[in-house]
Amino acid sequence: MFVRKPAAQPPPVPAPTPYRQESLPAWIEAVATLDLKRDTGETQVRRGPGLILAALRESSTLPVEPVPPNAQTLHLVGSCPACEHEMDKVIRRRLPDDPDRSARNGTDTLDVLVYCNCSTVHPNRPADRTGCGSYGWLRVTTSAAEPNVTKTWTAIPEDLRWELEAEQLYAGRLDDMRATAQKWTAAITSLTGVFSIVALIKGPETIAKVLEPWRGIVYGFVIAAVLLALVAIALAAAAAGGTPRVARLSGREADTWTGWQAAAGKHELLYSRRGAIAAVLAMLTAIALTWFAPSS
Ligand SMILES: [Zn+2]
Ligand SMILES: [Zn+2]
Repeated sequence: MFVRKPAAQPPPVPAPTPYRQESLPAWIEAVATLDLKRDTGETQVRRGPGLILAALRESSTLPVEPVPPNAQTLHLVGSCPACEHEMDKVIRRRLPDDPDRSARNGTDTLDVLVYCNCSTVHPNRPADRTGCGSYGWLRVTTSAAEPNVTKTWTAIPEDLRWELEAEQLYAGRLDDMRATAQKWTAAITSLTGVFSIVALIKGPETIAKVLEPWRGIVYGFVIAAVLLALVAIALAAAAAGGTPRVARLSGREADTWTGWQAAAGKHELLYSRRGAIAAVLAMLTAIALTWFAPSS
């Protein structure tokens, strides 16, 4: 009878070193030699549709332009020189809604704070951190050719703290925009509520006393104010709600989609604010006319 030999013992895995937050020249110099790849996904920039509302936003006829080579995401991957676990850094060149197109052409230089983010648990690590604690600065130069690291230097703890802060802000950019939009929706809704109360109480008799053609002009401004206010509310609500998404997205698509939603919402909020200001001006003009126009 065949007797299975006892399986060879796997070589013992060394215990992870304790977490140690430090920025050493040797570490960052070794990181500079890791693989730095251009992310060649089919991610594309869709210009923020601005005024176009949610339904149109999903239309495939919207202009889509490819990301210029030096605006693409870069990906630094390899094993951490300190703990030898796998670490990576996504270097986002520009946000999809960045209007600064000049910066996206030609060579560009970017200073990137890199830190170990291996998934292995290192003892004594603070709960809000990943990796083994090593970090440092890389200067990455991009052009139409391959991106490369041109300089490395050590960082201070403050640099790491702000890098982690920036990552959280980036991840929460859509939520932040929606929270702002919700507050703005509430603000203009109550503003227009005040409008309609004033118009209902004071309006009809006062306007009726204004002589023609001024009466028609006053009505024109009131109607314009109401329409502008409605558009402002609709845009604010669209920014606050966004487009429901049913399809399962990949991580990269979710990143791009979040960028679009945030960019579109930003435009909608901008036009909503302009609409609200125009509505207030139209209403004030109508009120001023009832005071100064000839009346019976
Ligand atoms: Zn590690
Ligand atoms: Zn590490």
